[in-house]
Amino acid sequence: NEKIRLQKAMSDAGVASRRKSEQMIADGEVTVNGKTITEMGVKVDSHDKVEVNGIPLRHEKKRYILMYKPRGVISAVKDDKGRKVLTDLLEDDVDERVYPIGRLDYDTSGLILLTNDGEFANQLMHPRYHVEKIYVAKVEGILTTEEIRKIEGGIKFKDYTSAPAKVKVMSKDNKKKTSIVRLTIHEGHNHQVKNMFQAVGHSVEKLSRERYDFLTLEGLVSGKYRNLTHQEVAMLK
Ligand code: URA
Repeated sequence: NEKIRLQKAMSDAGVASRRKSEQMIADGEVTVNGKTITEMGVKVDSHDKVEVNGIPLRHEKKRYILMYKPRGVISAVKDDKGRKVLTDLLEDDVDERVYPIGRLDYDTSGLILLTNDGEFANQLMHPRYHVEKIYVAKVEGILTTEEIRKIEGGIKFKDYTSAPAKVKVMSKDNKKKTSIVRLTIHEGHNHQVKNMFQAVGHSVEKLSRERYDFLTLEGLVSGKYRNLTHQEVAMLK
């Protein structure tokens, strides 16, 4: 029962990143044993009663989950329209408040991580972290060498230019005029993969994320999940 800095206790509990937690402390949103703390450096342990905006800090065990997301599920913990969300797929072995790290589209399947470790989630989502992600897309039409070159070189969108990527055509169906293409990217802009193919005139009919850094879907079926091992978590950090 070791004393840790208040902002670390907050980020450990999944309130916000350490930096954001510092801001919340400075803004007077945090009390320790009933007293508002605004200066940095205060340390707490599990005997201290910490509240953020009047809500007690929960002492949750850290969870790190690798899920095989099916199509037709929202990458969220709740949906206004009542559609199925990722956390609906969790069984009673998970009662911590986990949330997805990044998002896959409603109609995209594949590998997604869930955690209640805010620091970990922020780290992996930070652009400078450059986590490699591999997608397999079924696209309309057959890609030309020139189109592949364009995708690999980077495509200029309104608000960003995609970083160099890798394309591998896995198979072509010349009759149906579709291709199965593997795309490796290091970013995660909204609908990025679909937009990259669309930019060269090929719409994506089906999309799946097969790999996230060194993690794959091996051993899982759609809709199921497993805990990451300690070693896997350490390797991602
Ligand atoms: N790119 C997309 O277009 N959709 C996803 O779900 C993920 C990456």
